[in-house]
Amino acid sequence: MSRIVMAGMPASGHLNPSLPLVRELVRRGIEVTYCTGTEFRDAVERTGAEFVGYPDGSLSAADIAAATRTGSSVAVVNRILTATESLLPFVLDQVREGPTDAVLHDSNALWGRMAAASLRLPTISFMTTFLVGTANVRVMNGREWRTSITPMLRDIPATFAQRRRLARRFGKQLFPPAPMLPMRGDLSIFPVPRELQSPDPRIDGSCHFIGPTIDPDIQQGQLDAELAAHVTGPEPVVLVSLGTLHAGSLDFFHACFDVLADLPARVLLAVGSHLDPAALGTPPANTLVRQTVPQLEVLRHTAAFVTHGGMNSAMEGLSFGVPLVVVPQQVEQLIIGKVVEDRGAALVLRHNVSRRAVPPAELRTAVEHALTDPAMRTAAKTMSTTLTTGGGAPAGADAVQRLLTP
Ligand code: UDP
Repeated sequence: MSRIVMAGMPASGHLNPSLPLVRELVRRGIEVTYCTGTEFRDAVERTGAEFVGYPDGSLSAADIAAATRTGSSVAVVNRILTATESLLPFVLDQVREGPTDAVLHDSNALWGRMAAASLRLPTISFMTTFLVGTANVRVMNGREWRTSITPMLRDIPATFAQRRRLARRFGKQLFPPAPMLPMRGDLSIFPVPRELQSPDPRIDGSCHFIGPTIDPDIQQGQLDAELAAHVTGPEPVVLVSLGTLHAGSLDFFHACFDVLADLPARVLLAVGSHLDPAALGTPPANTLVRQTVPQLEVLRHTAAFVTHGGMNSAMEGLSFGVPLVVVPQQVEQLIIGKVVEDRGAALVLRHNVSRRAVPPAELRTAVEHALTDPAMRTAAKTMSTTLTTGGGAPAGADAVQRLLTP
């Protein structure tokens, strides 16, 4: 029997798309030991994999969210480097627990890649988003460049210092080639459709675009009575969520209250676990506020999805044929939103990327458009049919098996 050790990033957006692949590997008789944050134990164990929780204080979903909210991708890299100090020895111990054939690692889980390098094991990188290249960043305007680069410059010295520290302790030969993140592996699995990847010289035969791995039935039965009543009524449903890592502002959610209140629609705001719904005050009659929702189950009933444009949320919305209003919180989501907008299935309100508020009137117009424009709906439905052509989790498992038994 083959054995794989998975080094995960403890964040829903990284975990969720990996689970169907892991479940499929386990189903095919491959033993998977999945290492990630303890908050994800149940979700991992449901796949049949063995779960191993990262030690307290090493890296949690809250740590990743805190680094993300600084607005600096370099701060996220710094947090990853810091976590590697404790997680590299930890994952090495897991790998040494038994004969291991390969290390599967999240494309940002540096500790998994370095553990594999130190034992000369094959690596399988799980990518979670497409490779961002020069063609993609051309969508950014000057203000967006300035807003994203300024906090990065601040964090660069500390991040280089942390990298040197790691190199001294573990050896610089264990580092992947620059640019360090996201890392590709001997095999790289992209749970995104090939058609969304811009031409990029880094894409070669080791890259497999399997398309989204979403299992639409995984959350069946998870709508409680209040949610079910809200989303299964006669009016169309508008879901608003900015994902699990970013902190949407009170102003943004209040704007949703104000401009969506008189729509002939039911509005559901998933404001995130960092925000107490009570802090928003009483919502309008057509609006329900929750911290989190079973997003796939809600999307099944949704007519328009106001999303930050995280890769998972975008793919999940489109897989149900739901037009998107993308309110990106960072550059990567602006790029994802633009790629979908180019195909007619999204409208992008990019103000937050340069730290400006989304004008409420523009939000209202975009949501009305997403609800009523038949062309947007058709484009979303068309995308939903092409998302599956990569073969999903079974295609990913085929590629892994080919690597394990060449
Ligand atoms: N999600 C959810 N309920 C919520 C918010 C998010 O189930 O209330 C899930 C969503 O379905 C997706 C993931 O969390 O699978 C978020 O990933 P994404 O890449 O969209 O965004 P991130 O949170 O990483 O920014």
